[in-house]
Amino acid sequence: MSDRTESAEVVVVGCGPGGAVLAYLLARSGVEVALVERAATFEREYRGFGWNPGVIRLFEEMDVLEDVLDLAHETVTDGSFSLYGGAVSVLDFDLLDTDYPYALMMEQPALLECLVERASAYDGFAFYPATTVTDLRTDDSGGVCGVVAHDREVDEDITFDARAVVGADGRYSTVRERAGIDPGWFESPIDLVWFKLPQGALDARNQGRIDRDGVLVFFGLGGGDVQVGYIVRDGEWPSIREAGFGAFCRRIAAIDPELAAAVDAHLDGFRDTTLLDVSPGVANSWTRDGLLLLGDAAHTASPIGAQGNPLAVEDAVVAHRILVDALAERDGPEGDGILSGDRLREFEVRRRPTVERVIALQRRAAQNLRFWLDYGRYVPAWLVRGSASAFGWLAPHSRRLRGFVESFALGDESVSVARSRFVD
Ligand SMILES: Cc1cc2nc3c(=O)[nH]c(=O)nc-3n(C[C@H](O)[C@H](O)[C@H](O)COP(=O)(O)OP(=O)(O)OC[C@H]3O[C@@H](n4cnc5c(N)ncnc54)[C@H](O)[C@@H]3O)c2cc1C
Repeated sequence: MSDRTESAEVVVVGCGPGGAVLAYLLARSGVEVALVERAATFEREYRGFGWNPGVIRLFEEMDVLEDVLDLAHETVTDGSFSLYGGAVSVLDFDLLDTDYPYALMMEQPALLECLVERASAYDGFAFYPATTVTDLRTDDSGGVCGVVAHDREVDEDITFDARAVVGADGRYSTVRERAGIDPGWFESPIDLVWFKLPQGALDARNQGRIDRDGVLVFFGLGGGDVQVGYIVRDGEWPSIREAGFGAFCRRIAAIDPELAAAVDAHLDGFRDTTLLDVSPGVANSWTRDGLLLLGDAAHTASPIGAQGNPLAVEDAVVAHRILVDALAERDGPEGDGILSGDRLREFEVRRRPTVERVIALQRRAAQNLRFWLDYGRYVPAWLVRGSASAFGWLAPHSRRLRGFVESFALGDESVSVARSRFVD
């Protein structure tokens, strides 16, 4: 028995980039929207912090770009990594056909807070932090007509009634699980260990380092902090931990001695590292009566190529138009009932091909990285350097490679914000 009941036209579960963008767009379109978030504050660790030119274009279309650029961030205008000590450029943003020839590196908390603040300007918007969705509510025909949640701040159960529930609750989505939808996990040949170093601890001139002894990725986070990723074989992390933190530092030192010194000085052992299970997944269904899944809940991208945020934001932009139109059509059985799965399926039809293509590319890249971990040490350095210069020459001239890099940088260019649905 719940302690209180709330109602909204749409309940969005999860205030990550997907949920926050969707809630803002819906609120701005005059929809009554409840955004329900498990965490009590925005301070969460280790989320995606790369925002590509495609997302920046969408932020501009949403009228939030100016606010976003006021937040702490770093601007990246090229993509390069160090291969056996030689710099290899994979992307020069100036060569892209875009009005936004840069990517932003920015932590999520400030951005999410900014989006929620912008949404709060609209009467139909309500935010429920510290509130965990525990179950779905279904009507007599099995359609989803709301959620059950627990507000930890006041220790109360809440029942939400809604015409549509959007599961934007991330890779371990409760909404997806309660709907009985298979997450469609794929095995990953690699995992990623993350840690953060403070301002000045490291001069990360490029975004990664590939060496015979391993692979590291670096991202400035704005404000000076640097996020570092160390790629390990799938399932290898427990044995690395067992060997002790000193042995871990020595592994890092073999790739990058400067970084190893910073790790030794700034990390308090393994407790300052986080293992990210890279496993990508594509759920076998994203919509049903009264329900729509988006972002990581529908398809979990791996961090390769920083595609998770763009996919979640593009999903939100596409879902916005479809939800607003479906609500306006009053297409439920009784005029204002739950939105039908047939109507919501347009979202899945529109987004699935893009998402599946991106995830397939990420999986291929993960296999290449694993190959490098297994066999990189056997490839002579002269051959690697020779291939790197050939690659550096070929990259700008190869249409295929360029297409690959552009699709990661610009995202799905056919997605654009349905501004005509805005009420202001
Ligand atoms: C270490 C790491 C690095 C990454 N790096 C990048 C990167 O650089 N660039 C990039 O584009 N992507 C990156 N990604 C992926 C990116 O973070 C995700 O793809 C993106 O955050 C997905 O957004 P989302 O809104 O779908 O879900 P999430 O950001 O996961 O948000 C889900 C939200 O739902 C909430 N929630 C969960 N369960 C419940 C519940 N039961 N009730 C209420 N709320 C709930 C969570 O607290 C969370 O706030 C990275 C991911 C990780 C883990």
